[in-house]
Amino acid sequence: MRARRFLLAPATAAAVAVTALALPRGGWDGLPAPVPGPAVVAPARASASHAPATPDRATATRTATAPPASAPPAHHTDGAPARPPADRGAPPPSAAPSAAALPGATRPGTRPPVVSHGPRTGNKVALTFDADMTDAMLDDLRSGRVRSYANLRVVELLERERIPATFFLTGKWVTRYPEVTRRLAANPLFELANHTYGHEAYTAECYGLPTAPTSQLAQDVAATFRILEPYGGRQTRYFRFPGLCYDAAALAALAPLGVTVVDGDVVSGDPFATDWRPIVEAVLSAVRPGSIVILHVTEANAPMTDEALPHILAGLRQRGLEPAPLSEVLAPGA
Ligand SMILES: [Zn+2]
Repeated sequence: MRARRFLLAPATAAAVAVTALALPRGGWDGLPAPVPGPAVVAPARASASHAPATPDRATATRTATAPPASAPPAHHTDGAPARPPADRGAPPPSAAPSAAALPGATRPGTRPPVVSHGPRTGNKVALTFDADMTDAMLDDLRSGRVRSYANLRVVELLERERIPATFFLTGKWVTRYPEVTRRLAANPLFELANHTYGHEAYTAECYGLPTAPTSQLAQDVAATFRILEPYGGRQTRYFRFPGLCYDAAALAALAPLGVTVVDGDVVSGDPFATDWRPIVEAVLSAVRPGSIVILHVTEANAPMTDEALPHILAGLRQRGLEPAPLSEVLAPGA
């Protein structure tokens, strides 16, 4: 079997429980290469010492470019529309709430706050789903090596059970999956947030992810907001770094945008999982009131998430915890 791609997962601001998943060699961006044996605890944040020793193929074949300065990217992928459907159901820009009024908005010009959880009171938790997309992943889709990076079973379950969730979308994922994005935006229980344009890292080392210069960051994130905005729905000014990798310079570079940077305190470890049970265990052993749970909606790169989700939801119910949109977890009663 060919090696899988290792692009996707987050690290965490809290300790990461590295379960003994049968990860393929090389690891992925959230964790170092496979860790044999029982669970171990990794340090708080991604650092150079935890990057895979060997760059993954995405690094070697990187052709990623900076996002456009003013327009959605004109990728034509598998017949998908190149642009968001601004003329179908989305409000005209003038009708959209201004960025300053959106959840997560902060005063432009100030360094963004970083949150990893909400108040530890009450019973609300945020289920967040990252939608990574790189050029290498797009290549996999075009070639047919991968069927889908959009886990519709996750979306269907959340819809059917009426579970609130927050989706951190990359611009390239939105461009590749406009219909799914429209479906997410149409659900009043779902919030949309920003996960960069092409899932590049903005630190020198981030688990082998392709890197981009900090000078490109504000443009990258702003372009992704512009791609998301025409879809309407519950837009936010929440932003999550790929791999949760950032430094003071990266945070400072975001200051003009008036955003809130969102980490998480519960890392599910769903990327490249081969069994749903460790995902459920990772979530339910760490989740508390106010938690932000990091999951993925990328199917081929997180193929067990939909199987884990019903068990996670049942476990939350048992614990008296209730999923809520991220904005309501961070500002209960607001
Ligand atoms: Zn990611």
